[in-house]
Amino acid sequence: MVRFVSAPMGHSIDVRLDALTSALPCAAGAPATKTIAGCASGQTFYIETFGCQMNVHDSEKVAGVLLGRGYRQVETPEAAHLVLYNTCSIREKAAQKVFSRLGQFKAGQDAGKLIGVLGCVAQQEGEQIFERAPWVSLVCGSASYRKLPELLAELEGGNRRVTGLETDTDETFETEMTRRDHPFRAYLTIIEGCDKACAYCVVPFTRGPERSRPSPSVLEEVRQLADAGYSEVQLLGQTVNSYRDPSPRRMSFAELLVAVAGVAGIRRVRFTTSHPRDFHAEIVEAIDAVPALCDHVHLPVQSGSSRVLRAMQRTYTREEYLEKIALIRAARRPVSVTTDIIVGFPGETEEDFEETLSLLELAQYDGAFSFKFSPRPNTPALALADPIPEEEKGRRLAILQERQRQIQTARNETLIGQTFEVLVDGQSRKEGQWAGRTSSNRVLNFTSSRENLLGNYVQVRVTRAGPNSLVGEHVI
Ligand code: SAM
Ligand code: SF4
Repeated sequence: MVRFVSAPMGHSIDVRLDALTSALPCAAGAPATKTIAGCASGQTFYIETFGCQMNVHDSEKVAGVLLGRGYRQVETPEAAHLVLYNTCSIREKAAQKVFSRLGQFKAGQDAGKLIGVLGCVAQQEGEQIFERAPWVSLVCGSASYRKLPELLAELEGGNRRVTGLETDTDETFETEMTRRDHPFRAYLTIIEGCDKACAYCVVPFTRGPERSRPSPSVLEEVRQLADAGYSEVQLLGQTVNSYRDPSPRRMSFAELLVAVAGVAGIRRVRFTTSHPRDFHAEIVEAIDAVPALCDHVHLPVQSGSSRVLRAMQRTYTREEYLEKIALIRAARRPVSVTTDIIVGFPGETEEDFEETLSLLELAQYDGAFSFKFSPRPNTPALALADPIPEEEKGRRLAILQERQRQIQTARNETLIGQTFEVLVDGQSRKEGQWAGRTSSNRVLNFTSSRENLLGNYVQVRVTRAGPNSLVGEHVI
């Protein structure tokens, strides 16, 4: 094991170097000092990631590609020859962040440094980025990551401006190796892009059409992860349950879940994000039948009003969504449900907002990510009349978050006295204090007299509950 630093958070984590180096094309069987054709021996890179888990995982794969070419990862942009920002443009604030980072570099001042913009802002802004920040050398959207080795070779060859901006692709981004940030939990993309057309969302424009990965390739990677010591995998996709196996096996999403959970060594399987339209009883039946499938479903509703859902082009009504919730609540074991909600979509009336609040009561979510609507380029919602003032969006958001906080507190309090298995993934500086996650994805902070618990599964009894986490003690 070696200590790596995860650049965005700046904290260090353990990564299995043995698994990592054996997969390195540059390292395999080659003396460390020898320069290998196509490898940028001795070069360093820094990568900072903004946005969702899919971006985090894309960065892990990009880091894998770079390590495979002989680059070494460093902790600060100052120390790096190649500085990469993997960006998010889902809301305006997220998109602005990258330009503030780019503004920290000055043309000429950082001579010799190569700066690249990856991900959704790269796709959205394209070559305009070169105009706003002429010191940028690489602009590459996520649908073009397959071309990354070629683009890097061009940069290494002295080309100062390279782009990968196609979205019309049927390829997925599979790498020879992935440098994973987390030591026990591994992300794995099974479907890229999105074919839905939610009126507010940039993803179909920035990530391209839906492309599923063949199930044999997914299962092979899960086996490799289990061999490398990972016991928890999280299957990722913008609409993960819209998965369609392109291989002759034609596995359904639920069948794939069961197959992944069946790989020797895998103890927990998570999946996110599920789209309500493609969420069927078969998925709940799989969770019921297979204990390794975690008892948590993230099912974004976006609004509790059928009128707003129609305007959002979400393809389901409030009633249809509540039927999906009823399916999950009817499972034989309790399954926690979390969601995403947007307030202040154009035309959202006070009555529509009240319907969202009443849906919170009915759905009884265990967690909710809620956002003020943010108008985005290229999206149909941009042209809709009746924008809601920022102040009003803020008011609705505060009311919604307070109501959800009360629901979470009440739900978590019912867990006091119960014992859960947690995967321990954090250690406090205070002696004897640990943190882990339950199968339902709740954070459980606990005390234990034992040592070396990181990466272990332990039983913890809940003694206290707050809205966002639980407190407990190790049952020995
Ligand atoms: N694919 C997922 C789905 O269908 O729900 C969500 C993907 S998106 C990265 C995550 C969340 O960001 C969405 O569920 C939505 O709540 C929020 N979001 C997306 N576009 C937004 C916008 N223009 N303004 C505010 N929130 C937005
Ligand atoms: Fe965006 Fe809708 Fe696709 Fe989710 S399903 S990524 S919200 S377009």
